[in-house]
Amino acid sequence: MFSYRNKESCIIFYKRKIEVNNGTYFLRVCSQSFLCKFISIVFLHYKTTVMNSRRDFLQKIAAATIAVPFSSQVTTACKANNKSYDGPALRVAIMGLGSYGTRVAEAMRDCKDAKLVGVISGHPEKISAWQSRYNIPVKNCYNYENFDNVKDNPDIDAVYVITPNGLHHDEVIRVAKAGKHVICEKPMALNAKQGQEMVNACKKANVRLLVGYRMHFEPKTLEVIRMRKAGEFGKILFFQGLSGFVIGDPTQWRLNKELAGGGALMDIGIYSINGSRYMTGEEPLWVTAQETKTDPVKFKEGVDETIQFQLGFPSGAVASCLSTYSMNNLDSFFLNGSQGFAEMQPATGYGPIMGHTHKGELAQPVVTHQTVQMDEMSAIILQGKQPVVPVDGEEALKDLRIIDAIYEACRSGKKINLNL
Ligand code: NDP
Repeated sequence: MFSYRNKESCIIFYKRKIEVNNGTYFLRVCSQSFLCKFISIVFLHYKTTVMNSRRDFLQKIAAATIAVPFSSQVTTACKANNKSYDGPALRVAIMGLGSYGTRVAEAMRDCKDAKLVGVISGHPEKISAWQSRYNIPVKNCYNYENFDNVKDNPDIDAVYVITPNGLHHDEVIRVAKAGKHVICEKPMALNAKQGQEMVNACKKANVRLLVGYRMHFEPKTLEVIRMRKAGEFGKILFFQGLSGFVIGDPTQWRLNKELAGGGALMDIGIYSINGSRYMTGEEPLWVTAQETKTDPVKFKEGVDETIQFQLGFPSGAVASCLSTYSMNNLDSFFLNGSQGFAEMQPATGYGPIMGHTHKGELAQPVVTHQTVQMDEMSAIILQGKQPVVPVDGEEALKDLRIIDAIYEACRSGKKINLNL
């Protein structure tokens, strides 16, 4: 049996077998096309960004999911969606051609309802590389000074903002004012005040604001949500979320208060915050939190290293979560009810997501999260589709209110009431 808890399990992942229900699936060791794709992605990543341990973490968990090497388990976005939509694709420009922007762009190659058509970047050499790689016309290329001109471009429907957190607020508002739909990466903003301004600006401009909550489209996650809604766990009593990794390079923007807005909580702890909501199906009423710091040089004032927080829900259910930049192997969710449980590990990495419930292994298909997300977001924006779990600005605003309250609880040592 594949051990979730084995530290090296993800690295040697595709050499191992995974047992899914009663069937055993052997993961193919690198087909030729997988190797080509993988090498080119790694090349692009090294070209565009500095290696950091967050990416290491997510990639170890991912075990090269973007390369889609698993014949029997992998279902592309389109198969997973079971779509019949035949209309136009959502034409997207990516802003910020960094690590995650690159991952999204690669995943979008397999989209049926979304297409990468433009870029916004501060680096002309990246723009040229992306133009040739993704066949992007020069008229769809912008920099941070001139991207407001996207308003005059009828060939771009939406801009996907994938820049450091501290830039999201102004960039999203500028895109909205240019009359384009916006997809923004998590965390949507640095705090709820900024988030509210972004929501208001998009409403005023009559454009959609969606946030990159890729787990809201992940099949095993959706199965747990389905089971919970069907009452299969009984009364929900407890959620535990563990989210963390050891962060590397001390000079990266993720450790810069202005650009990151905080530390681990903004970046990785948000998965446990958001997860506690979609796993329990409730909005928390209160929060308590405690911060610990072992390295005040690396984690300066306002940049949190480790925070434990607790949430209380209207039903009486409680959540206990850990967010950290100083511990590896933390990516797990546990949901406990009066009649059953669900345990997921990895719970939020790029995949494969793995888990089981009191009824057995979760055997839903492995998908490339960003491919499914972008096809689904196309359907949300162009066809008004309602996702099972919301991915709009209001949803992100709730996480930001909880984040504000967690920081307040750390500062004051008090229990903070929430009104989401
Ligand atoms: P990177 O540092 O790898 O890339 C960010 C890009 O933003 C840069 O390459 C650069 O692109 C652009 N940029 C503009 N201004 C700045 C600046 N002052 N400093 C640094 N970069 C700048 O970050 P990630 O791609 O890892 O993260 C970007 C966003 O995506 C974050 O909000 C993060 O939380 C989110 N994210 C979400 C994930 C998910 O699973 N949903 C996973 C990883 C990240 P250019 O040179 O083209 O201008």
